[in-house]
Amino acid sequence: DNNRAVNFGAGPSALPLSVLQKASTNILNFQNTGIGITELSHRSKEFTGLLADLEARIRKQLDVPPTHKIIFTQGGGTGQFSAVVYNLLARHRLLYPELGDDERRLEYVLTGSWSKRAMEEAKRLCASPRGVGGNARVVVDARAFSKDGKSFDNIPPHAEYQFSPYTAASLVHLRTRPPPPALIYYCENETVDGVQFSDDLESPQSFPFGLLFPPDSDNEERGGHRPLLPLVGDYSSSFMSRPIPRLADHAVIFAGAQKNLGPAGLTIVIVRQDCLVDADAAAKLGAAPIPLTFAYKTIADSNSVYNTPSVFAIYVAELVMKNIEREGGLARYEQVNRRKKQKLYGIVEEGEEAGVLRRKVQEGSESWMNVVFEVLGKDGLASKEAEQRFIDGASQKGMLGLKGHRSVGGIRASIYNAITEDNVESLVVYTTEFIQAEK
Ligand code: PMP
Repeated sequence: DNNRAVNFGAGPSALPLSVLQKASTNILNFQNTGIGITELSHRSKEFTGLLADLEARIRKQLDVPPTHKIIFTQGGGTGQFSAVVYNLLARHRLLYPELGDDERRLEYVLTGSWSKRAMEEAKRLCASPRGVGGNARVVVDARAFSKDGKSFDNIPPHAEYQFSPYTAASLVHLRTRPPPPALIYYCENETVDGVQFSDDLESPQSFPFGLLFPPDSDNEERGGHRPLLPLVGDYSSSFMSRPIPRLADHAVIFAGAQKNLGPAGLTIVIVRQDCLVDADAAAKLGAAPIPLTFAYKTIADSNSVYNTPSVFAIYVAELVMKNIEREGGLARYEQVNRRKKQKLYGIVEEGEEAGVLRRKVQEGSESWMNVVFEVLGKDGLASKEAEQRFIDGASQKGMLGLKGHRSVGGIRASIYNAITEDNVESLVVYTTEFIQAEK
């Protein structure tokens, strides 16, 4: 369709054209059932098949082991900010019933706007006297390591993490006193600020912090016991863009579908089985009762149809997963996405040398998915007018969604899976022309 723009929006964002075409015919008549997909019962055998297929494909592409369940729910990433707190505090209560609320630590790694929001929600839910009975705290705040002292422009190196002494000790003496935290939280890709953990596990900016993974020799000392870390990762904006390293070591990984996977309204949660806890048993020990649509065990026990799921979003996500497989799977997307971001950061660097653009993120912390930069005026400062010229010029060429998040300004080009290398090339060509015209 020649009228379609290239959508560099951060989410909801571009989906593959072939998927949209197929979905549009199935809106009228799903697989010749005579019923459109948005009208289809979630108890029908057709839908049950779709859901099972989506699960199997995600499991295969991300190499999700049988230790983990994949559940589908609603409420978005934001819903999970709350759900992880409820579920992992209930688990902690069952494991360590004797502890006081202060000792049920929720440890947050702050690298951007979304991890900050998650931490704020945890603090809100914990607030006494009628809270959920935990103690949310910050392990590291990346703003302390920023160029301007106030922006989220980097992933701090592991050495800067300040786990509470309890947590640090518990990582060595697992499951003995002092107890491990209820959760350790990070956001793998910060969509607003454009920072992402390194995918190189040797890097001090890799996730999730070497400290959490003692060498295997240490594990042998513990009789080969592999720690069941309460590690929680928000993968909303990088899900399905590249493999997830050490996925098996996570307690919970969650993502809204609306970046790489499908329409908004579907949330994917990968939960380790020991985190599917009996909420009512935990409540008897004093944990906060978990609202049912947030309770991982309730959702898992009903194969994600405890209540009506987002049928259409699940359908489209399944089409997208098929498309990913057809195009060579996650390994190939990783290569393509790596090339895309290299190209785009390359031109931003050229713009920087020409005094026209300025990157916002420190070296080594750049997001593969959300490339953020500023456009400079003649005085060398970020300029709203210059930024608008960039956005207007791009728009004339059919490239939309480039305005940075309202909270931070600047330009943000989101290059999720459905943005092709050709699309990125068009943006690079346009940006080259822009730099020439402005310098
Ligand atoms: N986490 C991240 C990394 C996000 O990008 C977003 C949304 N853009 C959210 C959480 C919140 O997701 P939702 O809007 O689905 O609640």
